[in-house]
Amino acid sequence: MDLLNTLVDKGLRRELPTREEALAVLATSDEDLLDVVAAAGKVRRQWFGRRVKLNYLVNLKSGLCPEDCSYCSQRLGSKAEILKYTWLKPEDASKAAAAGVAGGAKRVCLVASGRGPTDRDVDRVSKTIEAIKEQNEGVEVCACLGLLSAGQADRLRDAGADAYNHNLNTSEGTYGEITTTHTYADRVDTVQQAQAAGLSACSGLIAGMGESDEDLVDVVFALRELDPDSVPVNFLIPFEGTPLAKEWNLTPQRALRILAMVRFVCPDVEVRLAGGREVHLRTLQPLALHLANSIFLGDYLTSEGQAGKADLEMIADAGFEVEGAGTTTLPEHRTDVAAAGCGSHASAGCGSHESSGCGSHGGGCGPCGASEEPSVPGEPSVPEARTDLVAVRRRGAGTDLAPNA
Ligand code: SF4
Repeated sequence: MDLLNTLVDKGLRRELPTREEALAVLATSDEDLLDVVAAAGKVRRQWFGRRVKLNYLVNLKSGLCPEDCSYCSQRLGSKAEILKYTWLKPEDASKAAAAGVAGGAKRVCLVASGRGPTDRDVDRVSKTIEAIKEQNEGVEVCACLGLLSAGQADRLRDAGADAYNHNLNTSEGTYGEITTTHTYADRVDTVQQAQAAGLSACSGLIAGMGESDEDLVDVVFALRELDPDSVPVNFLIPFEGTPLAKEWNLTPQRALRILAMVRFVCPDVEVRLAGGREVHLRTLQPLALHLANSIFLGDYLTSEGQAGKADLEMIADAGFEVEGAGTTTLPEHRTDVAAAGCGSHASAGCGSHESSGCGSHGGGCGPCGASEEPSVPGEPSVPEARTDLVAVRRRGAGTDLAPNA
């Protein structure tokens, strides 16, 4: 296919595809899916080989958020029966982080619900970062605390944070439909503050909220422009009790096409397969490793992932290897930019915020419901509501039970 040859050439040269080419990837048929995965896989291997970076989420503060992000189980008015707790003590957060590191994670992502941290919250998180770094030599720490105020990114960097995550989530044009309590511009500003402080920026998206192909291309092009080091790709987990509970818009094939498009547009950044992978990719998860070079190990913020052991087995069975602590994630040309002090790209990729805890919507096509009809060979698959695959997290941080790692 000419389209795929062009996209591979551009990806290997780090050249931006056109919007039409990105849209064309999303419009490919299920019949062409393996060709699309193979093409984007060439770009992935050029910049990241067969390495998979593991990241581990620690939800420092769960639920009770005053913001109204409609995809999020922790939002104002959420009826989702998630764990709710306030700030974990540094020693408890460090214990949870250690479980992830023991499972093979080289990055720990410290996430807290809320609009943004107070200066006292930054002090708290600074102590947690210090405790984690003291007990886990060489581990990268990414903070994800919401909108930052002046000076807070510098303080986090001084405390030892390597990265900061704040996702754009969706296109500028539809942002107001999913959240009213803050703006798209607020989010861009926080990512830029993190970059200016020398933190490695992590910013990504949530697909499946009812957005159009154009919206997806808009947000991914906006991310390329913003130039984070890592781009988490979340697939909406439609939590019961949130406004987007009925938005089951994704098939495994669609999720793969979205990941391929992200890889073609952002060829040399850490593309992270984030929340919703088990729910939406299901048995096709291993194919996604040909597109993303990074995943979360174990559980998400408010939902459970597959067993950490199953993550490791999947990576090995698919012919990939877990990236070791001594390996630099990003290609040399990106780390050189960081070393030259160009304002961002301090270390490697990043963690994700809304990965699981938060999930969902957009405009959309209304409830999709589970299809009872058998699929007809050759016809595009229809999204299914797989509520059976959504499990609220009941273990790890904030509980007495051992974490999944
Ligand atoms: S995404 Fe973050 S800011 Fe928005 S409701 Fe969820 S926890 Fe709050």
